[in-house]
Parts: sequence; structure tokens; C-alpha cells
Amino acid sequence: MPTTVVWFHNDLRVRDHAALSAACERGAVVGLFVWAPGEQGERAPGAARRWWLHHALVSLRAELAQCGVPLVLRRAERAAVAVEEVVRASSADAVFWNRRYDPAVAERDTAVASQLRCHGIWVEEHAGGWWQDAVGLAGGLQRRYQVFTPFWRWLANYVPASPLPAPRARATPTSVPASDDLAAWHFLPRIPWDRGFYEVWQPSEAGAHRVLERFVHEQLGEYALRRDLLAAEGTSRLSPYLAHGQLSPAQVWHAVRQATVDAAAKAAFLRQLAWREFAYQLLVEHPDLHVRPLRAQFETFPWREETNDEMVQRWRQGNTGIPLVDAGMRELWATGWMHNRARMVVASWLTKNLLCHWRLGERWFWDTLVDADPANNPFGWQWVAGCGADAAPYWRVFQPVRQGETYDREGAYVRHWVPELRHLPDRWIHRPWQAPGDVLARAGVVLGKTYPQPLVDPDESRKRALATFEEWRRSHTAGHST
Ligand code: FAD
Repeated sequence: MPTTVVWFHNDLRVRDHAALSAACERGAVVGLFVWAPGEQGERAPGAARRWWLHHALVSLRAELAQCGVPLVLRRAERAAVAVEEVVRASSADAVFWNRRYDPAVAERDTAVASQLRCHGIWVEEHAGGWWQDAVGLAGGLQRRYQVFTPFWRWLANYVPASPLPAPRARATPTSVPASDDLAAWHFLPRIPWDRGFYEVWQPSEAGAHRVLERFVHEQLGEYALRRDLLAAEGTSRLSPYLAHGQLSPAQVWHAVRQATVDAAAKAAFLRQLAWREFAYQLLVEHPDLHVRPLRAQFETFPWREETNDEMVQRWRQGNTGIPLVDAGMRELWATGWMHNRARMVVASWLTKNLLCHWRLGERWFWDTLVDADPANNPFGWQWVAGCGADAAPYWRVFQPVRQGETYDREGAYVRHWVPELRHLPDRWIHRPWQAPGDVLARAGVVLGKTYPQPLVDPDESRKRALATFEEWRRSHTAGHST
């Protein structure tokens, strides 16, 4: 029976994996994962994703073994070389993979495919379990959407293909090429900043299904009401599983549609899932989304880009003196994840109140998020900064005190992540710098000592941001009219 190599990338699962199922149907299969960070340059996975990747590969190896498929790991300068070597060493006559939507990776795949074909190797690219696949797009959308609502109206008409079960290979490979030792890739940190990650995450395919099941049965019905509450476990936390492909969007879609909750709750959640599909179809058209603003005029906006600036350092460390911003940044550092509402608030603080470039924030998130995503991350940053597609207008500045008082009314989120403020009464928890001295003293807070004074005042810095924007807009318009 023939042997097929299945090349994994961000699709580290055995269920609903079209390429794996097709290969197993054909005969023997060798799974391959190539680590070629040089080829990905600055978009190679950051530290938090490498942590996840380590565990995801351990899980994938065990899941594949159940399918009768060995997993080979190869580190390479160029993925193409590793793929060819493994094809040769396993006497395979075909390579299958799931289509990747990240255009930088897709471009590489096209080159690898033509090289393999030149050597007489059969190559097949399969649908990757995306919702958009339901439209039958071989090479992407016929038309790109710049605005979310029409995109959502369009996508909502389609039903993703039913997820495939885990397959079983029809034969055992006659020769299995040598694999690298995963530990030698050093994806796990030497300094143990990842302790908190183990408390929060189960980074395996089985873990992904447990999280999905629990969410659908226990939380989906309340999703629309609770998704913005910072201290509630109101969202699914499926993002890192989706980012690593341990779940496909189609699996999530079908689990949600089968749930016994009302249609409005399902639609509210699926609408969020559609934002991811929206971001990807934008990335396909704008591969440099992480460096270039979608609204080109923002190229000249006077954002500051000094990475070592004290304000940026304090922002990264969660020591800005603004409790909600600090809570979000500390949640990120401790768990590799941050609540969506907090992401918007911390991004707004950096890009507007501190007037720092959104690219600085995007890069920090890229390194620290376990769900760091080539489409969602730059898309989210550009959305908040006001230079993206269908973005919040620049003058929408998230006021962190008001955001806190609305979405963390009792201050539970801040108290959890900024424990030095935990004894402050609810009234002052989001604005300790305005609290009377005796209140601070009773709560054991000494501003500037136990907790920082804000480096900038939220209202004054908001005014400064708006004035900068106005001035830039005027000079920009004047520049265009001359
Ligand atoms: P849920 O609310 O349960 O949503 C389910 C799924 O829908 C998510 O897992 C995600 O895949 C998708 N989704 C939800 N909201 C959005 C959104 N606004 N945009 C795109 N997709 C969405 N998301 C990432 O997956 N990776 C990132 O790197 C990322 N960076 C972001 C940066 C900024 C500045 C902002 C404002 C948002 C970013 N997001 C990113 C979007 C969003 O914050 C996360 O998808 C969400 O918080 C993940 O938590 P969840 O799985 O519990 O979401």
C-alpha cells in the first residue's frame, strides 16, 4: 500500500482533519511537523505560543499513534528541504496537507508543492475546516469584505461541512524517518514564567474538546449577557485551540448549533467566531497587516515607536497606575491570555493615552499570547488604534475608569490581578489616585510605593490624543488639497 506524508502546521488535531483522513484512506501515513522559524522571520511563533506548541505536539503524537500514524518532527532552515527528506526516507509517493489561510505560509506551500511535483510526488491540498470553506472556495473568496456586517450576513447563510471523525490508517509505514527530539527545540522556558499557564490550560486536543463541551453545555446560553464581564467566565476561551488548530471552526460551529439553547445565544457566539473568518479574509488581501495600516493615511500618524520608553515598559509589566490596564496586562503575563474587553482597554491606553504605535503592542501580544494569531492580532490592534478595517474611529478612546465601573463593577477582576488594591472600596478600586488619604490608608495603599501613581491622567491624555489626531487630520487634509 502507498505511503503518504501528512504535513501539519496550525492544524494540530486528528479529528476533522481532511488531509489526514484522505491519507489514511489511501494506505500508510507518516505525520510531519516542520519547525522552520527562520523562514517565518519575525512572525515565527512567540514565547507563549511555543509553550503551547510543545504541549500540542506531545498531544498530537499520542492522538496520531491511536490512528496508526507516527509523527516525525524536523527542524530546518527551509521547510521544503525537510519535507523532501521525509518523503524520501519514508518511501512516500504523496504529500497531503490542509490549506493554510495565512498568505505568507500559503505562498511557501505553493512553492513546496511545485518542487515536490517536479520530483514526481503527488500533492493534495485539502479544506482546512473553516467556515468559509463551506462557500466552496478553492483559492479564497471571490470578493473581499472591508466591513464586518455584510460579511456576517453573507457568511451566516452557509453551513460548514460536518466534522470528520478521527481516522485509522489502512496500513503501517514500512520505514519511519528519524524524528528530532522535541525537548531539544527548547520551547519550554528555562525561567519558569509559565507556572500559571498550567493552572489555566489543558493544551491538548482532548483538552480542547473538554473546554468546548463545557462551554456549550454550561455557558453558551448566557454568552451574550456575560461575554463583556471581566470577572465572569463568560467567554469560551477557545482562542488558543483555534489558533493551533486543535479545534476547527467547523467543529465549534456544529457543537454550537447542536446545543439546546435559544437561537439568539447561538447567533451571538457564532457572530464572534465570524470575526475571525473576517480577519483572515482581510489578511489574505493584506499579508502585511501586522506592519501596515489598512487605512493608508495612518502611515503618517505621529505615534511614538521607542520600545524602551518607560511608559511602554510599565505598560508591559502592568505597572501603569491604571488598575484595569494593569489587571489586563498582568492576566496576560500570568496566563498567556486576556479578556477581550481588557484587550481593547489596554490597546486603547497604549495607542491613544500614551500615543505609542500599535505595532509595539501587536509585537508584545505576539510574544505573550497563547492565542497570538496572524490575522486576529494585527486586526484587533488596528481596530482599536482606528486605522483598521471597520475600525473604531480614532476618537473612540476607551476610558479605563468608566470601562472598569461598567464591566468590573465590584472590582473583582482588578482585585484578583492587582491584589495590592484589594482592600480598596468598590468606589475607588478603578481610580485609586482620586481616593481620599484616609481611604487609601485603611486599604494599606501608599501611592507611588505599594502601587504606582498613574504616569498620565486618563482624561488629560485623552484630550492630548484627540488634539494630536485633529492636528494630524488637518495637516493631512491640507497636504492632500495642495
Ligand atoms: P469568545 O468570545 O468565546 O469567542 C469565540 C471565538 O471567536 C474566539 O476564540 C475567537 O476565535 C473569535 N473571536 C471572538 N472575538 C473576536 C474578535 N474581536 N476578533 C476576532 N476573532 C474573535 N484573538 C485571537 O484569537 N488572537 C489574537 O492574537 C488576538 N489579539 C487581539 C488583540 C487585540 C488588541 C484585540 C482587541 C483583540 C484580539 N483578539 C485576538 C480577539 C479577541 O480578543 C479574542 O479572540 C478573544 O478574547 C478570545 O477569547 P475567547 O476564545 O474566550 O472568545
